[in-house]
Amino acid sequence: MKLNDLTITQAHQGLIKKEFSALELTKSYLARIEIQDQKIFAFLSMSQGLALEQAKKADKMILEQGEKIPFLVGIPMVVKDNILVKDLKCTAGSKILENYIAPYDATVIKKLKDNGAIILGKTNMDEFGMGSSTENSAFFATKNPYDLSRVPGGTSGGSAAAVAADECIYALGSDTGGSIRQPAGFCGAVGLKPTYGAVSRYGLIAFASSLDQIGPITKTAEDAEIVFDTIKGKDKMDSTSVNYELGIKNYELRIKELRIGIPREYFTEGMDPECEKIIRKAIKECENLGIKIQEISLPNTKYALACYYIINVSEASANLARYDGIRFGKANSELKTPYTAEPFNAEPSAYGLSAQPNKGFKPSGYRQSEKRKTLLDVYLKNRGEGFGAEVKRRIMLGTYALSAGYYEAYYLKAQKIRTLIKQDFDRAFEKNDFIFAPTSPTIPFKLGEKTKDPLQMYLADIFTVPISLAGIPALSLPIGKAKEMPVGLQIIGKPFQEMEILKFASFLEKNICKLH
Ligand code: GLN
Repeated sequence: MKLNDLTITQAHQGLIKKEFSALELTKSYLARIEIQDQKIFAFLSMSQGLALEQAKKADKMILEQGEKIPFLVGIPMVVKDNILVKDLKCTAGSKILENYIAPYDATVIKKLKDNGAIILGKTNMDEFGMGSSTENSAFFATKNPYDLSRVPGGTSGGSAAAVAADECIYALGSDTGGSIRQPAGFCGAVGLKPTYGAVSRYGLIAFASSLDQIGPITKTAEDAEIVFDTIKGKDKMDSTSVNYELGIKNYELRIKELRIGIPREYFTEGMDPECEKIIRKAIKECENLGIKIQEISLPNTKYALACYYIINVSEASANLARYDGIRFGKANSELKTPYTAEPFNAEPSAYGLSAQPNKGFKPSGYRQSEKRKTLLDVYLKNRGEGFGAEVKRRIMLGTYALSAGYYEAYYLKAQKIRTLIKQDFDRAFEKNDFIFAPTSPTIPFKLGEKTKDPLQMYLADIFTVPISLAGIPALSLPIGKAKEMPVGLQIIGKPFQEMEILKFASFLEKNICKLH
């Protein structure tokens, strides 16, 4: 039996019917990764030991509980490398965290582990979630499994590529301005960005805190529902999370009563005509099924990208101020030499760091004979060497935007525009159940095509950032192919309407999708 292209539901059935064990399933994925990842480069690190241990536990659960086991028991999955899994490396794609070993589990990981998940490894990403192609990873670029000369999207490119290359059954990603939806779209996978607050971010390495969300990347909408249902909800460790009962389990989709808005601003300049054709075809097919389609306007869309690039850089500059490269970075090993004016043999708390014991931490000794420099020199050197070009660009832009005298003109202004963007959506949802939009304006671009021009890279998110700014949920559904590459359709919903989106996506998957 072929074990590598199963969905969660299929694997669950196989496990409870004892067609295969969780250990067999896990080993088959580990073996596939070994071969496949030599060309995809989806993984930053593997966790074979943990996976095999979890598989044995899962088999025990299956033996004891039989059919009653939760859906995720024994299902192999992967985690984006900005989500903490205890005792595994967590680099966020950055050299500055190259030696960081997570001291605790993120809440989403705890929930998955409690539900019997099997973690195969950590996946590649653009450094700290800044990028659209996974080429900003400090380590290497991931390839698109549909065409190895093209990008998988980003920043959860490793997660999306691993799902598409059948290296796992599902993945966790994070989305600040499109990082789940765009790579899912580029790799022919389903990606859900939940409503802001629907999923705890405790244990997610922060990028832009008013936007960051964790969500699933899966092979089907039904699978996305299973994962989302498991990870969602209030967490006392994240005050922005909300109590969220996915109470509409018996939500009944009335296709002929649905009204869908098509924003005219999303079908203009810059949209690849071949992608547009696929999206238009899907819209036509919906209309043929009796769904009411109406053109709408979201007039402030034109400000979204600029607004997003003020807000994300500002918040990133504050969030990334904490990295000094002293304990976990590459520079850690070099610290032994020139910078010794400060007592490096002191406890980490002497530097304002938490005294959390960490396996990777070896304090360097005090060397009297060496040239003394100040702590500021240490920070400058470590941050200069530890961060990549895109991260530095954003820290500088963000620091500028937040500085006295400029705050009102940039950050505050962007926040006001953000409200206008949100109000555009509120108005549209008064008369529509969902909004459709392309996930991306183009098919996956070639590796290296946009790396020299940050603005071109930023434009890859033009259709995902307005939704992030509004804090509302959206799912990218593979809807067809243009030039042999997958095209994603975004299904956008009202806050906390994930269940409706997922049910509708599942319906579309069965009725109009041509990819699966
Ligand atoms: N590509 C966008 C950016 O670089 C979005 C990234 C994300 O969602 N993490 O900011």
